[in-house]
Amino acid sequence: MLIKDNFDEALKISESTNEFLSHYQIPPSPVNYSVIYMHVSKRNEKLSIALERHLEKYQEVDLTFIEELFSKYISNSHAVDKQILAPIEKSLSNTLEKINIQIDSDKTVASNLRKAEQALSKHEYHKSMQNIVAFLMSSISTSQQQHSELSLELTKTCGEVNFLKSKLEAARHEAIVDSLTGLYNRRGCDVKLQTLDIEQVHSSLAIDIDHFKNVNDQFGHFIGDKVIQRVAKVIKETITDKDIAVRFGGEEFMVVLVNKTLSQAHEIAEKIRLAIASLKLMQRDSKAYLPKLSVSIGVAQRQEELNWQSLFEQADTALYQAKNNGRNQSVCL
Ligand code: GH3
Ligand code: MG
Ligand code: MG
Repeated sequence: MLIKDNFDEALKISESTNEFLSHYQIPPSPVNYSVIYMHVSKRNEKLSIALERHLEKYQEVDLTFIEELFSKYISNSHAVDKQILAPIEKSLSNTLEKINIQIDSDKTVASNLRKAEQALSKHEYHKSMQNIVAFLMSSISTSQQQHSELSLELTKTCGEVNFLKSKLEAARHEAIVDSLTGLYNRRGCDVKLQTLDIEQVHSSLAIDIDHFKNVNDQFGHFIGDKVIQRVAKVIKETITDKDIAVRFGGEEFMVVLVNKTLSQAHEIAEKIRLAIASLKLMQRDSKAYLPKLSVSIGVAQRQEELNWQSLFEQADTALYQAKNNGRNQSVCL
């Protein structure tokens, strides 16, 4: 009963995970659930050691710490899928397949028995045989019923595994994307950079909103956030799906323009800058227009041997020049 053992084991781990979460009053978000599941199931030794040390020290679990564990040990790896969900899913679908074959075979047996019953019913002296057939028919009907219930139950569990998989996918997404703008966060930036072909030429834009503090001071943080979202939207609409747009900090963005030279990157920077300068933003309640918005942009091209960090520093240097030159402009390094 290897399949049942796997299934029971997974259920036990799931229950222990829930107990752990409620014991330490950790909200069962996808990120928290995945980390504790990995710990309880002893699938990742390093994660467990780090968590146990944390518990020894603080006696409670800090949510930022769980997020760190998630990004370090889970988000980049597909360990949960590979080690836990895939084997369960495989066992479940194998079992389901076997049960469905059994259901078909039950049907054949039932139909043969029905034929036998019809044949026997024509002859009164086969009464005792008829009784045997009736008994066999009732047995097969019970077995049919049980197989159908089992099949239904397994289909439901398959659905739950798929639900868990989609929750994990959502957690992975949540861990690499900035919730305010939908752009990548720094962690997401690292993940995406690993997928790039370093043989190609890539460029980078460092974008910073000009005098953003004034927006916050005059209109409040909420409107400030809306402005950040709007700028992020312009950036996203101006670049391609292949490029990587990152919210690096409060009102600072970094864009990696994939397979683009410095002059191509400069053109894109100007498009973004002009699109933002021409925005007319209105406060919905008061219908008052916000003052003109602008951004400064630093542009740099990745030279061979240059690591990403240095590229970003170069773009940042160019950004400071743009600020010093009077803002609302893009400068190439
Ligand atoms: P500069 O032209 O030199 O860039 O001026 P600035 O005012 O934009 O620059 P500064 O870096 O001094 O101010 C950035 C401000 O952004 C300060 C901070 O209060 C605000 N900020 C940072 N993160 C957020 C956020 O998530 N939401 C909002 N609304 N404001 C933020
Ligand atoms: Mg600024
Ligand atoms: Mg800034």
